[in-house]
Amino acid sequence: MAVTATERKLLIAGEWIETGDWLDVRSPYSGELVARVAKGGAAETRRAIDAAAAVLAEPLPAHKRAEILVKVAGAIGRRHEEVARTISDEAGKPIKAARVEASRAMSTFTFAAVEARKLAGTMVPMDAAQAGEGKVGFTIRRPIGVVGAISPFNFPCNLVAHKIAPALAAGCPVVLKPASQTPLSALLLAELETEAGLPPGWLNVVAGSASEIGDVLVEDPRVRLITFTGSGPVGWKLQERAPKKRVKLELGNSTPVVVAADADLDRAADKLAANAFSFAGQSCISVQRIYIERSAIGAFLERFLPKVEALKVGDPADDETDVGPVIDDGARERILAWVEEAESAGARVLVGGGVERELLRPTVLSDVPDDAKVSCQEVFGPVCIVNPVDSIEEAVERANGTRYGLQAGVFTTTLDNAVKAAAGLEFGGVTVNEAPTFRSDQMPYGGVKDSGNTKEGPAWAVREMTEERLVVLDVS
Ligand code: NAP
Repeated sequence: MAVTATERKLLIAGEWIETGDWLDVRSPYSGELVARVAKGGAAETRRAIDAAAAVLAEPLPAHKRAEILVKVAGAIGRRHEEVARTISDEAGKPIKAARVEASRAMSTFTFAAVEARKLAGTMVPMDAAQAGEGKVGFTIRRPIGVVGAISPFNFPCNLVAHKIAPALAAGCPVVLKPASQTPLSALLLAELETEAGLPPGWLNVVAGSASEIGDVLVEDPRVRLITFTGSGPVGWKLQERAPKKRVKLELGNSTPVVVAADADLDRAADKLAANAFSFAGQSCISVQRIYIERSAIGAFLERFLPKVEALKVGDPADDETDVGPVIDDGARERILAWVEEAESAGARVLVGGGVERELLRPTVLSDVPDDAKVSCQEVFGPVCIVNPVDSIEEAVERANGTRYGLQAGVFTTTLDNAVKAAAGLEFGGVTVNEAPTFRSDQMPYGGVKDSGNTKEGPAWAVREMTEERLVVLDVS
């Protein structure tokens, strides 16, 4: 396995600093040390906020922000394999999926650059009211201030990009806390931003103690917005503790798919086998629950199960690997226990179950009760369930039987079913004849219910990170 780095420092106020303490980053596949990263805490976070707050007095014009964002996209392109290897080494993500993530990060920076150039307010028709006669009114969008960004382990490059690129587009300096298991991609992006000409203080990266860093981001009034992607309990607690800040949450899901009897079953089987197990199911929109009309379940499983069995489980550094490790032993044991719980409640294992050379096998379960954990909670592992239903209405109702609401999918060849499902599924996004794992980086992406309270995608994130100010000119 390639070791991407041995020691990495934190970026604060344009300086790469050590702290005297280190965080070990280990390969989730081999357990080998990939790198040591300087470990920060409250003191480093305060210094990072000082640096970020100071640059607000020296705003960068939009064209400069856009140029830097475009340069970063270009740099990711030039160092694409290094970025992909870094993702793969620290997260255990199969290298072919890591290459896709690196390409998507280029796209995220490119779209953010577009948003920087078109950031504008709107005209207000003042003379539409008698009181407004003789006045001109318009709004401008101002950067909200210092952004505190907290990112998860599973997309350590592109989800960091979804925070720092829109923030720069909006004119906001950032203090970023990456996941402790995967800080290397964030630090590499910070290096690329610095090389692209981002002045000191605009991006500060503090890896280390989540509670210490989180506490300072919550308590310091100069941090005006916290953008968090991760698990629900952490996210909602942050919001509760910071009622005067904008706290933007992108959280989990228990991703359902409705398959109608009239669906193109070859297409559904292809898409769902690929998207239930990619990165060992550790995507917030990994396909988890398939509800299929009873008359089609036999034909679907004939197509679907061989595709799942053909997935190659193994070393994430290998070009052929489809399914690598989950992030750590604790996650593996939890997922095994959830599958056992479903089995003891009557579920049948159709494929997989258990481990192979310490890696979880892609597992398909059927006849799973709705109250089993693999059904009603987020598995975040290579497990999906296929349950028969008697109608599209029942499928939609059972798909909605979760506290989550990020994305859902439907496979059908009739417009009627597509419209019915799109209208009935209580999720932030619904895909039709595409797996709900689909995400393209310019689209609005975010959930309802326990899945969050915002949309990412540069155009949406930039709006969140700016404040609209009304200007009224008296021209009478
Ligand atoms: P997590 O455990 O909630 O961690 C996410 C981030 O929060 C990490 O940087 C973590 O730091 C930090 N954190 C933990 N406790 C904190 C605290 N008290 N204050 C401030 N920060 C704190 O989530 P994860 O396991 O990395 O990610 C998996 C979850 O993310 C899943 O639920 C998944 O569905 C969700 N997710 C959602 C989306 C989306 O766009 N909706 C995308 C990807 C993932 P440490 O690493 O140091 O603990």
